[in-house]
Amino acid sequence: MTRNITDVAVIGAGPAGLSAAFILSENQKNTVVLEMSSQVGGISRTIERDGFRFDIGGHRFFTKDEEIDQFFKDILGDEAIWVNRSSKIFYLGKYFDYPLKPANALMGMGIITTAKCLGDYGYVKVRNIFKKPEIISLQDWVSNEFGDQLFKLFFKNYTEKVWGIDCSQIEAEWAAQRIKGLSLRVAVKDAIFPQKNRKVATLIDKFLYPRLGIGRISERLAEDVEKHGNEVRLRSRVAAINHDGAHITSIDVESADGPYTLEVENLCSSMPLTELVTAMKPEAPAEVVEAARSLRYRDLVTVNLMIDKPEVTDQTWIYIHEPTIKLGRIHEPRNWSPDMAPEGKSSIVAEYFCFEGDEIWDMDDQALIDLTISDLDKRLGFLKKEEVIDAFVVRVPKAYPMYELGYEIPLNKIRDYVAGFDNLEIVGRYGTYKYNNMDHSMKTGILAARNILGESHDVLDVNAEKEYHEEKLLDK
Ligand SMILES: Cc1cc2nc3c(=O)[nH]c(=O)nc-3n(C[C@H](O)[C@H](O)[C@H](O)COP(=O)(O)OP(=O)(O)OC[C@H]3O[C@@H](n4cnc5c(N)ncnc54)[C@H](O)[C@@H]3O)c2cc1C
Repeated sequence: MTRNITDVAVIGAGPAGLSAAFILSENQKNTVVLEMSSQVGGISRTIERDGFRFDIGGHRFFTKDEEIDQFFKDILGDEAIWVNRSSKIFYLGKYFDYPLKPANALMGMGIITTAKCLGDYGYVKVRNIFKKPEIISLQDWVSNEFGDQLFKLFFKNYTEKVWGIDCSQIEAEWAAQRIKGLSLRVAVKDAIFPQKNRKVATLIDKFLYPRLGIGRISERLAEDVEKHGNEVRLRSRVAAINHDGAHITSIDVESADGPYTLEVENLCSSMPLTELVTAMKPEAPAEVVEAARSLRYRDLVTVNLMIDKPEVTDQTWIYIHEPTIKLGRIHEPRNWSPDMAPEGKSSIVAEYFCFEGDEIWDMDDQALIDLTISDLDKRLGFLKKEEVIDAFVVRVPKAYPMYELGYEIPLNKIRDYVAGFDNLEIVGRYGTYKYNNMDHSMKTGILAARNILGESHDVLDVNAEKEYHEEKLLDK
Protein backbone atom coordinates (compact mmCIF):
# COMPACT_ATOMS: atom_id res chain seq x y z
CA MET A 1 0.00 0.00 0.00
CA THR A 2 1.54 3.34 -1.09
CA ARG A 3 1.58 6.01 1.58
CA ASN A 4 1.58 9.59 0.53
CA ILE A 5 1.42 13.11 1.91
CA THR A 6 0.47 16.46 0.35
CA ASP A 7 -0.47 20.03 1.33
CA VAL A 8 -3.67 19.90 -0.71
CA ALA A 9 -5.58 17.06 -2.34
CA VAL A 10 -8.10 18.07 -4.98
CA ILE A 11 -10.79 15.55 -5.89
CA GLY A 12 -11.82 15.73 -9.55
CA ALA A 13 -10.03 17.06 -12.66
CA GLY A 14 -12.97 19.00 -14.12
CA PRO A 15 -12.96 22.81 -14.51
CA ALA A 16 -13.58 23.38 -10.79
CA GLY A 17 -10.93 21.07 -9.36
CA LEU A 18 -8.33 22.08 -11.94
CA SER A 19 -8.96 25.81 -11.45
CA ALA A 20 -8.31 25.29 -7.74
CA ALA A 21 -5.17 23.26 -8.47
CA PHE A 22 -4.01 25.91 -10.97
CA ILE A 23 -4.19 28.73 -8.38
CA LEU A 24 -2.58 26.55 -5.70
CA SER A 25 0.22 25.55 -8.08
CA GLU A 26 0.85 29.15 -9.10
CA ASN A 27 1.20 29.87 -5.38
CA GLN A 28 3.70 27.05 -4.84
CA LYS A 29 1.36 24.79 -2.86
CA ASN A 30 2.14 21.12 -3.03
CA THR A 31 -1.04 19.80 -4.68
CA VAL A 32 -2.25 16.42 -5.91
CA VAL A 33 -5.35 16.12 -8.12
CA LEU A 34 -7.15 12.77 -8.00
CA GLU A 35 -9.33 11.96 -10.99
CA MET A 36 -11.18 8.69 -11.27
CA SER A 37 -11.53 8.66 -15.05
CA SER A 38 -8.80 8.28 -17.66
CA GLN A 39 -8.99 11.86 -18.92
CA VAL A 40 -9.34 15.37 -17.52
CA GLY A 41 -12.35 17.64 -18.11
CA GLY A 42 -15.20 15.93 -16.23
CA ILE A 43 -18.53 16.79 -17.82
CA SER A 44 -16.74 19.49 -19.84
CA ARG A 45 -14.37 17.05 -21.52
CA THR A 46 -13.81 16.54 -25.24
CA ILE A 47 -13.59 13.00 -26.57
CA GLU A 48 -11.40 12.39 -29.63
CA ARG A 49 -12.24 9.56 -32.07
CA ASP A 50 -10.62 9.05 -35.49
CA GLY A 51 -10.02 12.77 -35.98
CA PHE A 52 -13.52 13.77 -34.79
CA ARG A 53 -13.91 15.65 -31.48
CA PHE A 54 -17.05 15.50 -29.33
CA ASP A 55 -18.05 17.49 -26.24
CA ILE A 56 -20.55 15.96 -23.81
CA GLY A 57 -23.30 18.08 -25.34
CA GLY A 58 -22.28 21.47 -26.78
CA HIS A 59 -20.58 23.59 -24.13
CA ARG A 60 -20.59 27.31 -24.72
CA PHE A 61 -18.40 29.49 -22.52
CA PHE A 62 -20.29 32.44 -21.10
CA THR A 63 -19.62 34.59 -18.06
CA LYS A 64 -20.60 37.83 -16.44
CA ASP A 65 -17.52 37.70 -14.24
CA GLU A 66 -14.63 39.75 -15.65
CA GLU A 67 -12.02 37.83 -13.71
CA ILE A 68 -13.23 34.50 -15.13
CA ASP A 69 -13.49 35.98 -18.60
CA GLN A 70 -9.82 36.98 -18.39
CA PHE A 71 -8.88 33.64 -16.79
CA PHE A 72 -10.48 31.80 -19.74
CA LYS A 73 -8.70 34.01 -22.29
CA ASP A 74 -5.33 33.71 -20.52
CA ILE A 75 -5.57 29.95 -20.35
CA LEU A 76 -6.56 29.44 -23.95
CA GLY A 77 -4.70 32.29 -25.64
CA ASP A 78 -5.17 32.05 -29.40
CA GLU A 79 -7.01 28.73 -29.08
CA ALA A 80 -10.19 30.68 -28.23
CA ILE A 81 -12.38 31.49 -31.22
CA TRP A 82 -15.63 33.41 -31.60
CA VAL A 83 -18.65 31.38 -32.69
CA ASN A 84 -21.84 32.83 -34.13
CA ARG A 85 -24.81 31.41 -32.37
CA SER A 86 -27.97 30.36 -34.14
CA SER A 87 -30.39 27.92 -32.54
CA LYS A 88 -33.79 26.48 -33.35
CA ILE A 89 -36.60 24.71 -31.58
CA PHE A 90 -38.23 21.77 -33.35
CA TYR A 91 -41.88 21.45 -32.37
CA LEU A 92 -45.15 20.56 -34.09
CA GLY A 93 -43.10 19.41 -37.07
CA LYS A 94 -41.69 22.93 -37.59
CA TYR A 95 -38.61 24.94 -36.70
CA PHE A 96 -38.91 28.01 -34.51
CA ASP A 97 -36.12 30.51 -33.90
CA TYR A 98 -34.61 30.26 -30.50
CA PRO A 99 -34.90 32.48 -28.52
CA LEU A 100 -38.43 32.91 -29.81
CA LYS A 101 -39.03 35.66 -32.33
CA PRO A 102 -42.67 36.76 -32.53
CA ALA A 103 -42.86 36.95 -36.35
CA ASN A 104 -41.40 33.47 -36.70
CA ALA A 105 -43.62 32.09 -33.92
CA LEU A 106 -46.68 33.66 -35.56
CA MET A 107 -45.89 31.96 -38.88
CA GLY A 108 -45.25 28.68 -37.15
CA MET A 109 -48.15 28.54 -34.72
CA GLY A 110 -50.80 30.20 -36.80
CA ILE A 111 -52.56 33.42 -36.01
CA ILE A 112 -55.18 31.95 -33.65
CA THR A 113 -52.69 30.27 -31.33
CA THR A 114 -50.46 33.33 -31.39
CA ALA A 115 -53.41 35.55 -30.55
CA LYS A 116 -54.25 33.26 -27.64
CA CYS A 117 -50.66 33.44 -26.41
CA LEU A 118 -50.59 37.22 -26.60
CA GLY A 119 -54.03 37.48 -24.96
CA ASP A 120 -52.95 35.18 -22.18
CA TYR A 121 -49.70 37.07 -21.72
CA GLY A 122 -51.58 40.37 -21.52
CA TYR A 123 -53.99 38.84 -19.02
CA VAL A 124 -51.28 37.74 -16.57
CA LYS A 125 -49.51 41.09 -16.81
CA VAL A 126 -52.73 42.98 -15.97
CA ARG A 127 -53.74 40.46 -13.29
CA ASN A 128 -50.33 40.81 -11.62
CA ILE A 129 -50.90 44.52 -11.13
CA PHE A 130 -53.82 43.69 -8.84
CA LYS A 131 -52.91 40.32 -7.35
CA LYS A 132 -49.78 38.25 -7.76
CA PRO A 133 -50.33 34.52 -7.27
CA GLU A 134 -48.07 32.52 -4.97
CA ILE A 135 -45.07 31.26 -6.93
CA ILE A 136 -43.72 27.91 -5.76
CA SER A 137 -42.88 25.80 -8.78
CA LEU A 138 -41.32 26.38 -12.18
CA GLN A 139 -44.77 25.97 -13.71
CA ASP A 140 -46.12 28.77 -11.47
CA TRP A 141 -43.22 31.00 -12.38
CA VAL A 142 -43.34 30.56 -16.15
CA SER A 143 -47.16 30.74 -16.35
CA ASN A 144 -47.07 33.89 -14.28
CA GLU A 145 -44.41 35.50 -16.50
CA PHE A 146 -45.65 34.42 -19.93
CA GLY A 147 -49.17 33.03 -19.53
CA ASP A 148 -50.41 29.43 -19.64
CA GLN A 149 -50.49 29.13 -23.43
CA LEU A 150 -46.83 29.95 -23.93
CA PHE A 151 -45.91 27.78 -20.95
CA LYS A 152 -47.68 24.81 -22.52
CA LEU A 153 -46.37 25.47 -26.02
CA PHE A 154 -42.75 26.34 -25.45
CA PHE A 155 -41.72 25.45 -21.90
CA LYS A 156 -43.60 22.44 -20.56
CA ASN A 157 -42.58 19.68 -22.99
CA TYR A 158 -38.92 20.51 -23.16
CA THR A 159 -38.48 21.21 -19.47
CA GLU A 160 -40.13 17.91 -18.61
CA LYS A 161 -37.91 16.16 -21.16
CA VAL A 162 -34.83 17.67 -19.51
CA TRP A 163 -35.86 17.00 -15.93
CA GLY A 164 -38.04 13.90 -16.23
CA ILE A 165 -40.55 15.28 -13.72
CA ASP A 166 -43.61 17.51 -13.90
CA CYS A 167 -42.89 21.26 -14.04
CA SER A 168 -45.04 21.64 -10.90
CA GLN A 169 -42.37 19.64 -9.00
CA ILE A 170 -39.40 21.84 -9.95
CA GLU A 171 -38.39 24.80 -7.78
CA ALA A 172 -39.35 28.22 -9.19
CA GLU A 173 -35.96 29.57 -8.10
CA TRP A 174 -34.24 27.85 -10.99
CA ALA A 175 -36.46 29.36 -13.67
CA ALA A 176 -36.43 32.78 -12.03
CA GLN A 177 -32.66 33.01 -12.30
CA ARG A 178 -32.39 31.57 -15.76
CA ILE A 179 -35.25 33.00 -17.81
CA LYS A 180 -35.66 36.46 -16.41
CA GLY A 181 -34.08 38.27 -19.35
CA LEU A 182 -36.75 37.18 -21.83
CA SER A 183 -39.48 39.78 -22.08
CA LEU A 184 -42.24 39.05 -24.51
CA ARG A 185 -43.26 42.69 -24.40
CA VAL A 186 -39.79 43.81 -25.53
CA ALA A 187 -39.63 41.01 -28.11
CA VAL A 188 -43.00 41.91 -29.63
CA LYS A 189 -42.13 45.60 -29.62
CA ASP A 190 -38.83 44.90 -31.36
CA ALA A 191 -40.56 42.79 -33.99
CA ILE A 192 -43.02 45.55 -34.82
CA PHE A 193 -40.69 48.53 -34.33
CA PRO A 194 -37.16 47.18 -34.81
CA GLN A 195 -34.65 49.28 -32.91
CA LYS A 196 -30.96 49.30 -33.53
CA ASN A 197 -28.81 48.13 -30.62
CA ARG A 198 -31.79 46.82 -28.70
CA LYS A 199 -31.35 43.22 -27.69
CA VAL A 200 -33.60 40.93 -25.74
CA ALA A 201 -31.36 40.05 -22.81
CA THR A 202 -31.69 36.37 -23.61
CA LEU A 203 -30.14 36.77 -26.98
CA ILE A 204 -26.44 36.21 -26.88
CA ASP A 205 -25.51 35.74 -30.46
CA LYS A 206 -21.77 35.16 -30.20
CA PHE A 207 -19.71 33.16 -27.79
CA LEU A 208 -16.13 32.08 -27.14
CA TYR A 209 -15.13 28.50 -27.67
CA PRO A 210 -11.83 26.59 -27.69
CA ARG A 211 -10.92 25.62 -31.25
CA LEU A 212 -10.34 21.98 -30.29
CA GLY A 213 -13.32 21.55 -28.00
CA ILE A 214 -14.35 22.58 -24.53
CA GLY A 215 -12.10 19.99 -22.89
CA ARG A 216 -9.12 22.18 -23.80
CA ILE A 217 -9.87 24.37 -20.78
CA SER A 218 -9.17 21.50 -18.42
CA GLU A 219 -6.29 20.18 -20.50
CA ARG A 220 -4.56 23.57 -20.42
CA LEU A 221 -5.13 23.90 -16.66
CA ALA A 222 -3.74 20.41 -16.06
CA GLU A 223 -0.66 21.18 -18.18
CA ASP A 224 0.01 24.22 -16.03
CA VAL A 225 -0.46 22.30 -12.77
CA GLU A 226 2.06 19.70 -13.95
CA LYS A 227 4.46 22.38 -15.17
CA HIS A 228 4.67 23.54 -11.56
CA GLY A 229 5.74 20.07 -10.47
CA ASN A 230 2.33 19.07 -9.12
CA GLU A 231 0.46 15.93 -10.12
CA VAL A 232 -2.83 15.10 -11.83
CA ARG A 233 -3.34 11.42 -11.09
CA LEU A 234 -5.80 9.81 -13.50
CA ARG A 235 -7.65 6.52 -12.83
CA SER A 236 -7.52 7.43 -9.13
CA ARG A 237 -10.85 7.24 -7.35
CA VAL A 238 -11.24 8.70 -3.89
CA ALA A 239 -13.12 6.00 -1.99
CA ALA A 240 -13.05 7.33 1.59
CA ILE A 241 -12.42 10.55 3.46
CA ASN A 242 -10.88 10.01 6.87
CA HIS A 243 -11.50 12.61 9.57
CA ASP A 244 -11.54 13.27 13.31
CA GLY A 245 -14.93 15.03 13.40
CA ALA A 246 -13.63 18.54 12.65
CA HIS A 247 -10.61 17.96 10.44
CA ILE A 248 -9.93 15.84 7.35
CA THR A 249 -6.80 13.80 8.00
CA SER A 250 -6.39 11.68 4.88
CA ILE A 251 -8.16 10.14 1.90
CA ASP A 252 -8.21 6.56 0.65
CA VAL A 253 -7.53 6.30 -3.05
CA GLU A 254 -8.18 3.37 -5.38
CA SER A 255 -5.79 3.57 -8.30
CA ALA A 256 -4.73 1.38 -11.21
CA ASP A 257 -1.63 0.50 -9.16
CA GLY A 258 -3.66 -0.47 -6.11
CA PRO A 259 -5.14 1.34 -3.11
CA TYR A 260 -3.25 3.85 -0.95
CA THR A 261 -3.85 6.51 1.65
CA LEU A 262 -2.94 10.13 1.05
CA GLU A 263 -2.41 12.34 4.10
CA VAL A 264 -3.67 15.86 3.50
CA GLU A 265 -3.39 19.28 5.11
CA ASN A 266 -6.38 20.48 3.11
CA LEU A 267 -9.00 18.85 0.92
CA CYS A 268 -10.82 20.50 -1.98
CA SER A 269 -13.61 18.33 -3.36
CA SER A 270 -15.49 18.53 -6.64
CA MET A 271 -16.87 14.99 -6.38
CA PRO A 272 -20.66 14.90 -6.01
CA LEU A 273 -21.53 16.34 -2.60
CA THR A 274 -23.89 13.46 -1.90
CA GLU A 275 -21.06 10.96 -2.50
CA LEU A 276 -18.59 13.00 -0.44
CA VAL A 277 -20.71 12.71 2.69
CA THR A 278 -21.39 9.03 2.19
CA ALA A 279 -17.61 8.44 1.80
CA MET A 280 -16.85 9.94 5.23
CA LYS A 281 -14.98 7.68 7.66
CA PRO A 282 -16.22 7.60 10.42
CA GLU A 283 -19.68 7.81 8.85
CA ALA A 284 -21.56 11.10 8.76
CA PRO A 285 -24.58 11.31 11.13
CA ALA A 286 -27.53 9.21 9.95
CA GLU A 287 -29.71 12.23 9.09
CA VAL A 288 -26.95 13.67 6.88
CA VAL A 289 -26.53 10.36 5.05
CA GLU A 290 -30.30 10.17 4.63
CA ALA A 291 -30.35 13.76 3.32
CA ALA A 292 -27.65 12.82 0.80
CA ARG A 293 -29.66 9.83 -0.36
CA SER A 294 -32.77 11.97 -0.89
CA LEU A 295 -31.13 14.34 -3.40
CA ARG A 296 -31.37 13.25 -7.01
CA TYR A 297 -29.52 13.95 -10.22
CA ARG A 298 -30.68 13.78 -13.81
CA ASP A 299 -28.44 11.69 -16.03
CA LEU A 300 -27.48 12.00 -19.68
CA VAL A 301 -26.73 9.75 -22.63
CA THR A 302 -25.07 11.17 -25.73
CA VAL A 303 -25.09 9.46 -29.12
CA ASN A 304 -22.15 10.64 -31.23
CA LEU A 305 -22.32 10.20 -35.00
CA MET A 306 -19.50 10.65 -37.52
CA ILE A 307 -20.93 11.76 -40.84
CA ASP A 308 -19.61 11.53 -44.37
CA LYS A 309 -20.64 14.97 -45.59
CA PRO A 310 -19.32 18.45 -44.82
CA GLU A 311 -22.48 19.87 -43.24
CA VAL A 312 -25.63 18.47 -41.66
CA THR A 313 -27.27 21.63 -40.27
CA ASP A 314 -26.37 25.31 -40.13
CA GLN A 315 -27.26 25.56 -36.44
CA THR A 316 -25.41 25.79 -33.13
CA TRP A 317 -28.05 23.89 -31.19
CA ILE A 318 -31.42 22.40 -32.10
CA TYR A 319 -33.78 21.81 -29.21
CA ILE A 320 -36.26 19.02 -29.84
CA HIS A 321 -39.43 19.93 -27.97
CA GLU A 322 -41.44 17.34 -29.86
CA PRO A 323 -42.45 14.77 -27.21
CA THR A 324 -42.66 11.93 -29.74
CA ILE A 325 -38.93 12.21 -30.43
CA LYS A 326 -36.93 10.94 -27.46
CA LEU A 327 -33.73 12.89 -28.01
CA GLY A 328 -33.69 16.33 -26.40
CA ARG A 329 -31.05 18.32 -28.22
CA ILE A 330 -28.52 18.04 -31.00
CA HIS A 331 -25.48 20.01 -31.98
CA GLU A 332 -23.05 19.81 -34.84
CA PRO A 333 -19.49 20.32 -33.53
CA ARG A 334 -18.20 21.62 -36.89
CA ASN A 335 -20.54 24.60 -36.56
CA TRP A 336 -18.73 25.46 -33.33
CA SER A 337 -15.24 24.99 -34.74
CA PRO A 338 -14.16 23.60 -38.13
CA ASP A 339 -11.36 21.74 -36.30
CA MET A 340 -13.90 19.47 -34.59
CA ALA A 341 -14.17 17.19 -37.65
CA PRO A 342 -11.83 16.11 -40.46
CA GLU A 343 -11.96 18.01 -43.74
CA GLY A 344 -15.12 17.25 -45.75
CA LYS A 345 -16.80 15.39 -42.85
CA SER A 346 -19.07 16.40 -40.02
CA SER A 347 -20.62 14.94 -36.89
CA ILE A 348 -23.68 15.17 -34.65
CA VAL A 349 -24.07 14.84 -30.90
CA ALA A 350 -27.58 13.87 -29.79
CA GLU A 351 -28.44 14.28 -26.11
CA TYR A 352 -30.94 12.12 -24.25
CA PHE A 353 -31.90 13.28 -20.76
CA CYS A 354 -32.71 10.27 -18.60
CA PHE A 355 -32.38 8.57 -15.23
CA GLU A 356 -29.76 5.90 -14.61
CA GLY A 357 -31.56 2.57 -15.03
CA ASP A 358 -34.46 3.84 -17.13
CA GLU A 359 -35.35 2.69 -20.65
CA ILE A 360 -32.95 5.04 -22.44
CA TRP A 361 -30.06 4.54 -20.02
CA ASP A 362 -30.36 0.75 -20.26
CA MET A 363 -30.92 0.64 -24.01
CA ASP A 364 -28.32 -1.29 -25.95
CA ASP A 365 -25.78 1.03 -27.67
CA GLN A 366 -26.66 -0.14 -31.19
CA ALA A 367 -30.39 0.34 -30.51
CA LEU A 368 -29.69 3.91 -29.31
CA ILE A 369 -27.61 4.64 -32.39
CA ASP A 370 -30.32 3.19 -34.68
CA LEU A 371 -33.03 5.20 -32.93
CA THR A 372 -30.99 8.40 -33.28
CA ILE A 373 -30.21 7.85 -36.96
CA SER A 374 -33.81 6.98 -37.69
CA ASP A 375 -35.13 10.15 -36.01
CA LEU A 376 -32.48 12.32 -37.67
CA ASP A 377 -33.42 10.81 -41.02
CA LYS A 378 -37.18 10.26 -40.97
CA ARG A 379 -38.37 12.87 -38.48
CA LEU A 380 -35.84 15.68 -38.85
CA GLY A 381 -34.58 15.06 -42.38
CA PHE A 382 -30.92 15.78 -41.67
CA LEU A 383 -29.13 12.68 -42.90
CA LYS A 384 -29.37 9.23 -44.39
CA LYS A 385 -28.21 6.07 -42.67
CA GLU A 386 -25.59 5.46 -45.39
CA GLU A 387 -23.94 8.80 -44.53
CA VAL A 388 -23.06 7.66 -40.99
CA ILE A 389 -19.46 6.41 -40.95
CA ASP A 390 -19.37 5.34 -37.32
CA ALA A 391 -21.04 6.06 -33.97
CA PHE A 392 -20.60 5.61 -30.25
CA VAL A 393 -22.57 6.19 -27.07
CA VAL A 394 -21.48 7.98 -23.86
CA ARG A 395 -23.38 7.54 -20.60
CA VAL A 396 -22.98 10.43 -18.16
CA PRO A 397 -24.28 9.82 -14.66
CA LYS A 398 -25.21 12.85 -12.54
CA ALA A 399 -25.38 15.44 -15.31
CA TYR A 400 -27.80 17.79 -13.54
CA PRO A 401 -28.38 18.32 -9.81
CA MET A 402 -32.17 18.31 -9.49
CA TYR A 403 -33.93 21.29 -7.89
CA GLU A 404 -37.01 19.34 -6.84
CA LEU A 405 -39.50 21.07 -4.59
CA GLY A 406 -38.11 21.14 -1.05
CA TYR A 407 -34.57 20.10 -2.05
CA GLU A 408 -32.96 22.87 0.03
CA ILE A 409 -33.89 21.18 3.31
CA PRO A 410 -31.71 18.08 2.86
CA LEU A 411 -29.12 20.13 0.96
CA ASN A 412 -28.66 22.61 3.82
CA LYS A 413 -28.30 19.72 6.26
CA ILE A 414 -25.44 18.37 4.18
CA ARG A 415 -23.80 21.74 3.67
CA ASP A 416 -23.97 22.48 7.43
CA TYR A 417 -22.28 19.17 8.15
CA VAL A 418 -19.53 19.80 5.61
CA ALA A 419 -18.99 23.34 6.94
CA GLY A 420 -18.02 21.76 10.28
CA PHE A 421 -14.64 20.68 8.83
CA ASP A 422 -11.96 23.34 9.06
CA ASN A 423 -9.85 22.13 6.14
CA LEU A 424 -12.49 21.05 3.62
CA GLU A 425 -13.58 23.13 0.62
CA ILE A 426 -16.39 22.06 -1.70
CA VAL A 427 -16.35 23.33 -5.28
CA GLY A 428 -17.99 22.94 -8.69
CA ARG A 429 -21.37 21.80 -9.92
CA TYR A 430 -21.86 18.45 -8.24
CA GLY A 431 -19.34 19.30 -5.51
CA THR A 432 -21.67 22.00 -4.20
CA TYR A 433 -24.91 20.53 -5.62
CA LYS A 434 -25.56 23.73 -7.50
CA TYR A 435 -26.63 24.21 -11.11
CA ASN A 436 -23.28 25.78 -11.93
CA ASN A 437 -22.03 26.43 -15.41
CA MET A 438 -18.32 26.23 -16.22
CA ASP A 439 -17.64 29.85 -15.27
CA HIS A 440 -19.25 29.33 -11.87
CA SER A 441 -17.46 26.03 -11.41
CA MET A 442 -14.10 27.64 -12.20
CA LYS A 443 -14.82 30.57 -9.89
CA THR A 444 -15.65 28.26 -6.98
CA GLY A 445 -12.32 26.48 -7.55
CA ILE A 446 -10.41 29.77 -7.60
CA LEU A 447 -12.09 31.05 -4.42
CA ALA A 448 -11.58 27.75 -2.60
CA ALA A 449 -7.88 27.83 -3.50
CA ARG A 450 -7.65 31.37 -2.14
CA ASN A 451 -9.32 30.22 1.07
CA ILE A 452 -6.66 27.56 1.41
CA LEU A 453 -4.05 30.27 0.83
CA GLY A 454 -5.45 32.25 3.75
CA GLU A 455 -8.19 34.45 2.27
CA SER A 456 -11.83 34.21 3.25
CA HIS A 457 -14.55 33.70 0.63
CA ASP A 458 -17.94 32.05 0.67
CA VAL A 459 -17.80 29.68 -2.29
CA LEU A 460 -21.57 29.20 -2.17
CA ASP A 461 -22.04 32.89 -3.00
CA VAL A 462 -20.98 32.06 -6.57
CA ASN A 463 -23.97 31.72 -8.91
CA ALA A 464 -26.27 33.38 -6.42
CA GLU A 465 -27.09 36.37 -8.60
CA LYS A 466 -30.78 36.87 -9.18
CA GLU A 467 -30.30 36.90 -12.96
CA TYR A 468 -27.54 34.87 -14.53
CA HIS A 469 -28.32 35.30 -18.19
CA GLU A 470 -30.63 34.36 -20.93
CA GLU A 471 -33.22 31.77 -21.63
CA LYS A 472 -31.58 28.72 -20.16
CA LEU A 473 -34.73 26.71 -19.76
CA LEU A 474 -32.76 24.43 -21.95
CA ASP A 475 -29.99 23.08 -19.88
CA LYS A 476 -26.67 23.77 -19.48
C1 LIG B 1 -25.23 18.51 -21.23
C2 LIG B 1 -24.53 19.60 -20.53
C3 LIG B 1 -24.28 20.79 -21.20
C4 LIG B 1 -23.63 21.82 -20.56
N1 LIG B 1 -23.40 22.97 -21.24
C5 LIG B 1 -22.73 23.99 -20.66
C6 LIG B 1 -22.48 25.19 -21.38
O1 LIG B 1 -22.87 25.33 -22.53
N2 LIG B 1 -21.79 26.16 -20.74
C7 LIG B 1 -21.35 26.04 -19.46
O2 LIG B 1 -20.71 26.96 -18.95
N3 LIG B 1 -21.59 24.91 -18.74
C8 LIG B 1 -22.26 23.89 -19.30
N4 LIG B 1 -22.51 22.74 -18.59
C9 LIG B 1 -22.05 22.66 -17.19
C10 LIG B 1 -20.59 22.22 -17.06
O3 LIG B 1 -20.43 20.96 -17.67
C11 LIG B 1 -20.23 22.12 -15.59
O4 LIG B 1 -20.45 23.36 -14.94
C12 LIG B 1 -18.79 21.78 -15.33
O5 LIG B 1 -18.30 20.71 -16.08
C13 LIG B 1 -18.67 21.39 -13.87
O6 LIG B 1 -17.32 21.30 -13.54
P1 LIG B 1 -16.89 20.54 -12.23
O7 LIG B 1 -15.42 20.55 -12.22
O8 LIG B 1 -17.63 21.08 -11.08
O9 LIG B 1 -17.48 19.05 -12.40
P2 LIG B 1 -17.14 17.92 -13.44
O10 LIG B 1 -16.89 18.50 -14.76
O11 LIG B 1 -18.20 16.90 -13.33
O12 LIG B 1 -15.79 17.31 -12.85
C14 LIG B 1 -15.78 16.53 -11.67
C15 LIG B 1 -14.72 15.47 -11.82
O13 LIG B 1 -14.64 14.74 -10.59
C16 LIG B 1 -14.39 13.40 -10.90
N5 LIG B 1 -14.79 12.58 -9.74
C17 LIG B 1 -16.04 12.39 -9.25
N6 LIG B 1 -16.00 11.59 -8.17
C18 LIG B 1 -14.70 11.28 -7.97
C19 LIG B 1 -14.02 10.49 -7.00
N7 LIG B 1 -14.69 9.85 -6.03
N8 LIG B 1 -12.68 10.38 -7.09
C20 LIG B 1 -11.98 11.02 -8.08
N9 LIG B 1 -12.57 11.76 -9.02
C21 LIG B 1 -13.92 11.90 -8.96
C22 LIG B 1 -15.24 13.15 -12.14
O14 LIG B 1 -14.77 12.02 -12.88
C23 LIG B 1 -15.05 14.45 -12.90
O15 LIG B 1 -13.98 14.38 -13.81
C24 LIG B 1 -23.20 21.68 -19.20
C25 LIG B 1 -23.45 20.49 -18.53
C26 LIG B 1 -24.12 19.46 -19.17
C27 LIG B 1 -24.39 18.20 -18.42
